Amino acid sequence: MNFIKNIIFFLKRSAFASGNPIKSLGKKEVAYLLFLVLLCLFYVLRHGLDVSDHKVQDSKMAMEQYGERLKINLDSSRSDAIVAGKEREQLLLAIEERIVVYLYQVPDYSYMNSLETYLKYRPELLKQLPSAVPLEKGDYALSSKYGIRTHPISGTIKTHYGIDLAAPAGKTVYAAASGMVSKVVFSDTGYGNHIVIKHRFGFESLYGHLQKVLVVEGQKVKQHELIATVGSSGNATGFHLHYETVKNNLKIDPIPSLNLKRNIYAELIELNKSNDGEKQ
Ligand SMILES: [Zn+2]
Repeated sequence: MNFIKNIIFFLKRSAFASGNPIKSLGKKEVAYLLFLVLLCLFYVLRHGLDVSDHKVQDSKMAMEQYGERLKINLDSSRSDAIVAGKEREQLLLAIEERIVVYLYQVPDYSYMNSLETYLKYRPELLKQLPSAVPLEKGDYALSSKYGIRTHPISGTIKTHYGIDLAAPAGKTVYAAASGMVSKVVFSDTGYGNHIVIKHRFGFESLYGHLQKVLVVEGQKVKQHELIATVGSSGNATGFHLHYETVKNNLKIDPIPSLNLKRNIYAELIELNKSNDGEKQ
């Protein structure tokens, strides 16, 4: 690591040069120092990202291996039913452990595709992460997506860190997953009256522009529990729910999460149907 050696050499030289090392530096030297610091930062960031991506890939591979073994176990018509049953239990436990690790590691919902196959073995985990629309079916229409847009009030180009679900005033808002209410804010500006819920695996969800808030800070809530009603408090042009999802402290696009639970349950229903068919 030549540039690290360079920095150490440079700092030592500067420290010995005079009583105040920073003052003694010329413009060129400051620029050089800055360049080295930026280079270090870039290296650390890139390396850090690489490591976390490797970890995600490792967890995915482990999940796939256990998944394959489970498939073989389920497909085989073995005579030693008790042994096969025990093995199945152990494999399911191992898969659950890997799903949990994976869920903590992934940065956003784009990684969920590879989970869909395995989540059907442990669908109850879905209750702990935002995986469904927080409004009643038929009550809402998507009016604004996540991403860069022209702000409807200020007219400036800004990133919209959530989605807007247009819905009539007073419609019921539900917790997107089980968790703990970490924030309740009453305000006439910004998000208006809003709620933040902390969930497992580093997920959080935010519900903005509310009319009524029906929970308090510190309250534990279950998935689909009634938490508020739709309003237009704060900076809002009409009645809608501003819905945000956060993963590991970064705001992420919630769109892929909205059908996650429904997709996996639909797959489970199909699976049960085919199992019933085989039994008949
Ligand atoms: Zn919004």
